Amino acid sequence: TLRTRFAPSPTGHLHIGGARTALFSWLYARKHGGTFILRIEDTDQERSTVESVNAILEGMTWLGLEYDEGPFYQTHRFDRYREVMEQLLKEGHAYRCYCTKEELDELRAGQMERKEKPRYDGRCRHRSEPRPGVSPVIRFRNPTDGEVAWDDLVRGRIAFQNSELDDLIIVRSDGTPTYNFTVVVDDLDMKVSHVIRGDDHVNNTPRQINILKALGVEPPRYGHVPMILGADGARLSKRHGAVSVMQYRDEGYLPEALLNYLVRLGWSHGDQEIFSVDEMIEYFDVNAINHSAATFNPDKLLWLNHHYLKHSDPAHVAHHLRWHLGRLDIDPTEGPDAVDVVLAQRERCKTLVEMAQASRFFYRDFDDYDPKSAQKHLTAASVPALEALRRHLAVVQSWEKEPLHAVLVATGEELGLKLGAVAQPLRVAVAGTAVSPPMDVTLHLLGQLRTLNRIDRALE
Ligand code: GLU
Repeated sequence: TLRTRFAPSPTGHLHIGGARTALFSWLYARKHGGTFILRIEDTDQERSTVESVNAILEGMTWLGLEYDEGPFYQTHRFDRYREVMEQLLKEGHAYRCYCTKEELDELRAGQMERKEKPRYDGRCRHRSEPRPGVSPVIRFRNPTDGEVAWDDLVRGRIAFQNSELDDLIIVRSDGTPTYNFTVVVDDLDMKVSHVIRGDDHVNNTPRQINILKALGVEPPRYGHVPMILGADGARLSKRHGAVSVMQYRDEGYLPEALLNYLVRLGWSHGDQEIFSVDEMIEYFDVNAINHSAATFNPDKLLWLNHHYLKHSDPAHVAHHLRWHLGRLDIDPTEGPDAVDVVLAQRERCKTLVEMAQASRFFYRDFDDYDPKSAQKHLTAASVPALEALRRHLAVVQSWEKEPLHAVLVATGEELGLKLGAVAQPLRVAVAGTAVSPPMDVTLHLLGQLRTLNRIDRALE
């Protein structure tokens, strides 16, 4: 059966590029009823951190990219790498290299001088005697002629001449295995059938294929996904704004909006823009991934987020809104049901952060009025309207939209004022700013007691 994996190095957050690779691998497994494996490539013990592992797991959970097996940790598998190393040594596919740093420096300097590509010349292939005082590295004996090629799932056929490759170090002198070696052993042991990863690994693939062949096994299929660029054409990085998945959560994006955005980064299905997760699984096809780099477009992500805020189940959006209210130190039980707030706010708010900020006044008294709004609408001229509203609203029996609207209209007629001249002072009085959902909705959600208290405060 089909088995894919996501194999992040835990040296930072789950970033946009990694999340997209994970999503593509996950979709491919889901589409074919296969298995999705998570493998933490933590052999670089200086750069790997537990915080980063947790951040990656958190990001995957938030996105809903659940894995079927794992997480496996490479640092737990050193014995196994050693075993495969021994096997390669015994079968003559690997050898101990005793070259000293000086010797290698000299080799490299000569090659540079001759304008050759620096590569190890294999001189220890035939060196039989250990050198006292030198702890050897283990090198893979790469084939010297012929080519190594594969049909890339994304890019089509890719071939390298073996003469371009040198004898890769698979175990360092301190006994730790190197990236290309651990990946090979893991993909083999975990029976990975399809490797989908960033195209920064294209140059590693021929080496990995050669090692797998030396082990006598069929390599998996590989698909190399093009990189993601910022709007300026440079590789996407922190300079372009948020790159970590959790930062998007914190900035008020819904996970399904980010997923939808990620799936369209380098993949398309006709001109469809909006994909539910089920549709992504149904339509996803590695062969349809673009060959050229994708450009990250924050405006489109924002547009998608607004789409999902407007069209998702309000109860689902409310769940996320409560979390954001909590981040503003607001207890969502101290005011209207967040579902009703979502329904009232979702047209005008593009992120959950905006929605939470625009909704705080439903849950908690504000300290200050927005100065511009107050200057314009809370003046001596607005006192009669607020006083009349205070009187009428105090006796409203049924605190529902229609009767509330009727009070506003009647108050305007009574004072000979336009509706806006009545509603705007009231809005600033209760919401602290001149922007809020329609007045009847706002009052209804706020409740009678809070409304009257805030009018009193404005009249003080
Ligand atoms: N650990 C590698 C990385 O983070 C990925 C290795 C792979 O997918 O083969 O770039």
